[in-house]
This record gives sequence, structure tokens and C-alpha cells, in this order.
Amino acid sequence: MSKKYMEHFRVFIEAQSLLKKIAQHRDHIEEHQKRIQFVEKNREKRKEIKEENQQQVISMGKDISSLEKELFSKEKDLSRANENLHKVTSESQVKALENEIHKLTPLIEELQEEILEKLGRCEEIESEISKAEQFLEGSQVTLVELEEEVSLDIEKEEAKIKNYSQRIDFLLEGLESNNRESFLQTQKSAKDGQVIAFLNNRKCSRCRFEASSSQVAEVENARNIEFCQSCSRILIPSTINS
Ligand SMILES: [Zn+2]
Repeated sequence: MSKKYMEHFRVFIEAQSLLKKIAQHRDHIEEHQKRIQFVEKNREKRKEIKEENQQQVISMGKDISSLEKELFSKEKDLSRANENLHKVTSESQVKALENEIHKLTPLIEELQEEILEKLGRCEEIESEISKAEQFLEGSQVTLVELEEEVSLDIEKEEAKIKNYSQRIDFLLEGLESNNRESFLQTQKSAKDGQVIAFLNNRKCSRCRFEASSSQVAEVENARNIEFCQSCSRILIPSTINS
């Protein structure tokens, strides 16, 4: 087993380790983007609540004004009844008016209470709205700062990724074209970015599929590129590191 035959395997291993680094930097980019998404999500939630609150204030305002109209008319009825009480002469008329006054008084009190309660609730909601507005204003500033920071961070990550990609290209350029193509084709189909697998005791290190004796021999003599029959990754003899 000549070392020279193994050379492309070493290149594959190095390219794979650079691909892993690229994947790590892609993860970093995703984390940076998540920081922004987190702030945006919070703002979105707060905005929704604020809008719901604003709708509630509008509808409560309508309720209050109709309650006030009702109160106004009941109060008018009451004062008219009180005035008439001094004017009427018959006992039945007095009784009727007294009955009316008796009914109107608690109704008016109830209406006043209900209006006060709704006004209080409105005030609470309005204070929630103004808190939300302050939050939205403050977090807008945070968001702009964060976006600047994140875009710088991402730029740095992209630069590193570019550097690793160039190193991979350079490595692969040094290979015979069929070896290079094997790597690139396998890379395309490997969704998790794992292009190579080691053959440990006949088993693929990625999927544990057992290779045939003849395939094991092919992998070890390293003249052809062999692929795992289950996961399609390029098989590399684990003895390469020994
Ligand atoms: Zn496999």
C-alpha cells in the first residue's frame, strides 16, 4: 500500500474538515440572525397587543358614551318626577311618582358605577398602550444598533467562509479530475455536509453499513474511489491515520 495512493484521501479529509469549519460559521451566522429575529418577534407581539388594546379603548369609549346618554336621560326623568311630586294632588299620582323615583334612583347609581368602572379600566389600558409605545420606541433603537452589529459579525463570518472555500477549491484543484468530481458530486448529495466516511472494521463510520470483502480491499488499495452502498459517502480506510 503506497502512501502516494493515499494522497487524495488526505485531501478529502482536509477538505472535509474545512467544510466542517464552514458549517460552524454558517451556524454562527444563523445565531446572529436569531438575535434580530428575537427582538423583531417581541416587537411584533407587543404591537399586536397594543393594537388590540387600542381597539378595546375605542369600543369601551362607545360603551361609555351610550351609558352616559342613558344616565343623562334617567337623571332627567328623575328630576322631572321630583318636580312633579310637588305639583300633583291626588294620592294615586303621588304614589305613581314615588314608585318611579324609587325605581330610577338605583338604576342611576348602577349606571354611574358602571361608567366609573369602565373609565378606570380604560385608563389602565391606555397606560398599557403608552408603555407599549415606549417599548416599541426603545426597541426600535436597539434593533437598529443590533442590525448594524450583526451585519458586521456576519460580514466577518462570510469572510472566513470565503477563505475556507478558497482553501477547499485549492485543495481539490490539486486532485486528479475524477477524484475531484467524486468529491464534488458526493458533496452535492450529502445534505448534512458529510462527504467522507471511514471504514472501521468493514463498517461505514457514518451509517454502520458493512462493506463487502471485495469493497474493503478496493478501499484499502485506494486505486478507485469507493462509495458506501447505503449512505453513498466516499469510503476512506481508517488505517490512513495510523
Ligand atoms: Zn455509509
